[in-house]
Amino acid sequence: MTSTLLERLAEPEARDPLALASELDLRTQAFVNGEFVDALSGETFSCISPSSGQVIAEVASCDTADVDRAVSHARAAFESGVWSRMAPKARKKVLLRFAELIAENADELALLETLDMGKPIRDAQRVDLPLSAECMQYYGEAIDKVYDEIAPTPESSVVMIVKEPLGVVAAVVPWNFPTLMATWKLGPALATGNSVILKPAEQSPLTAIRLGELGAEAGLPPGVLQVLPGFGETAGQALGRHPDVDMVAFTGSTEVGKLFLRYSGESNMKRLALECGGKSPLLVFPDCDLDAAATAAAWGVFYNQGEVCNAASRLLVHADVKDELLEKIVGVASRIRPGDPLDPTTRMGAIVDETQLRRVLAYIEAGKEEGATLHAGGSRVLEETGGYFVEPTIFDAVSNDMTIAREEIFGPVLSTISFTDEEEAIAIANDTVYGLAAGVWTNDVNRAHRAARAIRAGVVWVNTFDMGDISSPFGGFKQSGFGRDKSLHAMEKFTDRKAVWIQLR
Ligand code: NAD
Repeated sequence: MTSTLLERLAEPEARDPLALASELDLRTQAFVNGEFVDALSGETFSCISPSSGQVIAEVASCDTADVDRAVSHARAAFESGVWSRMAPKARKKVLLRFAELIAENADELALLETLDMGKPIRDAQRVDLPLSAECMQYYGEAIDKVYDEIAPTPESSVVMIVKEPLGVVAAVVPWNFPTLMATWKLGPALATGNSVILKPAEQSPLTAIRLGELGAEAGLPPGVLQVLPGFGETAGQALGRHPDVDMVAFTGSTEVGKLFLRYSGESNMKRLALECGGKSPLLVFPDCDLDAAATAAAWGVFYNQGEVCNAASRLLVHADVKDELLEKIVGVASRIRPGDPLDPTTRMGAIVDETQLRRVLAYIEAGKEEGATLHAGGSRVLEETGGYFVEPTIFDAVSNDMTIAREEIFGPVLSTISFTDEEEAIAIANDTVYGLAAGVWTNDVNRAHRAARAIRAGVVWVNTFDMGDISSPFGGFKQSGFGRDKSLHAMEKFTDRKAVWIQLR
């Protein structure tokens, strides 16, 4: 792939998913101990293009036997010290090279991402891939800059508090930002010296497999980064229950996050970090820039087809400005029309698969049946393409006890709830099992501080939404999980602290 990818895709005839997939020479096997291998069972599963419904590849379907094999290689690599005890400066060099290789292959990876899970190529290329390379670079740079501690004990002893890698880490990730979610785990887990087994979602295995290969090219020794494509109930569960996996770093639904808690409790009490779902509120008070709030609200829920864990899916707006704000949001949404994700001008792509499409449409029906007012959208579109597209959908007159206000839809559906005072707004915002993120729009600095502190969420954005930086931690309160991705804090969960007590004479 060349750096003129977007220019090339500007031509409609260059956007045939099957032709692009065959040109890409797809890697479809598992990456185990430095080599591409078939699943031990020989089984495969089909990778389907969400924009056309066509099968673009058959991918190795790993299960328990493959997990056993990969874990034994990961353990051997860890115990050998080939990576876990490599000099920090040398490990840094490898991860920095890994970051460079992600950047150098960004066009190819972006195309794989779009073909596999349907996000607009423009976003994959401009957002997902640069952020993934930056993430790997950040943790590479951090390796030789993080110090351990000496405890303030009496002078008769020296107590060193050292952070040690956990050992074998499984990274189980979702399909909405496949490369980025993988690098959020791989960066800090590898930087701290662990051996990692990456299990991508079955809907989006292609970039993960390629990451395994690029990691090896960067210099990761065999067994340090392995990739097992496969289903959740098989490969995912086997990792969660494996007695020799020390930790699972998971991003996905709350439902599956709870299963990992059970797997851990029923096996070896492995450590867990769970980045789960959300139902994030965006609070709009009358004393704010309503145009800017409308833009943030629309992109906050429709970006990435609404398949974003922190999507601003509950719009909480003061009754005095609700109608005006909704009109403005509809205006912004009219420019976010679903289209071919391979077209560089497309701002909203396809829903990841038919199952998710049906789920989103069922929630839209539930909203109508429970008495919410369908204000805009509400339908599947572009059905003639064979792909899975849903138009931006806005419900008004939602009450917070309706299904569309309580459950994570993971599609382009906005639920509008009105309030009359700040106290009520905060109460509605917190009336959810989730606590991943929230937004507050107000020009009153006192209100901004009050609301930001009162909302139970891992991130609260004020007068913006969905802004991020690798230096800023990300993760949930409540049933949105625990543990933090991004920032130096992300490294903590991949280590244990050991106190080494040296008695002096
Ligand atoms: P999911 O929970 O269905 O799957 C996530 C991963 O878990 C996949 O790799 C899947 O194969 C695996 N899995 C599924 N069932 C399993 C089982 N029974 N045992 C073991 N593993 C299993 O989630 P998804 O549909 O891929 O992704 C959407 C979800 O991810 C949403 O809920 C979204 O909010 C969440 N998400 C959260 C964040 C965050 O940072 N908090 C980021 C992105 C996505």
